[in-house]
Amino acid sequence: MNAARYREAFLRLSGGRKMRLMEVCGSHSMAIAKYGIRGLLPDNISLLSGPGCPVCVSRASLVAQAQMVLEKGAHLAVFGDLARIPGPGGVRLDMQPGVTAVYSPDEALKIAEEKEVVLTAVGFEPTTAAAAAVLLEAEEKGLTRFSMLCDCKNLFPVFPMLPEIDGFLLPGHVAAVTGRSAFDELDRPGVIAGFGPEEIVLALLHLVKKVAENDCRAENDYLQIVPEHPGSAMRMIEECFTVCDSLWRGIGPVPQGGRRISDRFAAFDAVKKYALPDIPEPGTACRCGAVLRGAIRPQDCPLYGKVCTPAHPEGACMVSTEGACAAAFAHQEI
Ligand code: SF4
Repeated sequence: MNAARYREAFLRLSGGRKMRLMEVCGSHSMAIAKYGIRGLLPDNISLLSGPGCPVCVSRASLVAQAQMVLEKGAHLAVFGDLARIPGPGGVRLDMQPGVTAVYSPDEALKIAEEKEVVLTAVGFEPTTAAAAAVLLEAEEKGLTRFSMLCDCKNLFPVFPMLPEIDGFLLPGHVAAVTGRSAFDELDRPGVIAGFGPEEIVLALLHLVKKVAENDCRAENDYLQIVPEHPGSAMRMIEECFTVCDSLWRGIGPVPQGGRRISDRFAAFDAVKKYALPDIPEPGTACRCGAVLRGAIRPQDCPLYGKVCTPAHPEGACMVSTEGACAAAFAHQEI
């Protein structure tokens, strides 16, 4: 089917009604930009990129706390993209000695066999499950040189903070951990989608139909991966982390929007181990917050492509390859 036929199909299913849809997954943001999926939508439907990139919503003060850990002589194990996020004063962790970029949290446990190491743990339920597995292993091995600086997020409380959105393309990776039923709390239509271009387009067609019919049941269009109910990964998360209020970069405080290391694992909590203080978020001209709430598109930020580029990012949305601004820039969306 060509682009004009898709536009026709979307227009017919929407009944011409104006709709604001949002994807809340960095991998979806990348795929939508890469395959030009916005170009298939008629003028009455807008598809915005929401707060789905884990690195983008991590608080800038985490970088400052990580910097303090380095100053106290510990080694730091950091997921690649987080290391490039400018913290207060423009500090970037990848420019500091004593930092190793890791691609899996359990790499930090190997480092802990030789020296004191702190793992930065950020992200939504899939990465939180991996962090939980590491905590359990560290406990089992009785590691004393390992701890975790945690800014893990609980995705679900952010949806009510996006009241202008009519329907959500829901993240397949998160749903694979939480199960479809976790999205029953959603008060607007949502469709869980896979990550191929056809899967995304089909899920969007399904979503448009549900918005037009005001059908709020969350649907699972990623059946090969997403179960109906949470499985063992979610049970590990609940064993190791406790839901807490959280500051999301660009969004602000999200009640119950985070997961802190639970008391049983307090010995592995770097904030406690190194007596790290709370640090206020720095002010910035970056419009990431408005981008993540769907109030503006990346291209509407005055810094986009001028002061702020992937080579010289001003804000988190331009750092991670999954960030809305980086995805738009890389694929020249207009
Ligand atoms: S273009 Fe850069 S400065 Fe503007 S919102 Fe995106 S990341 Fe922030």
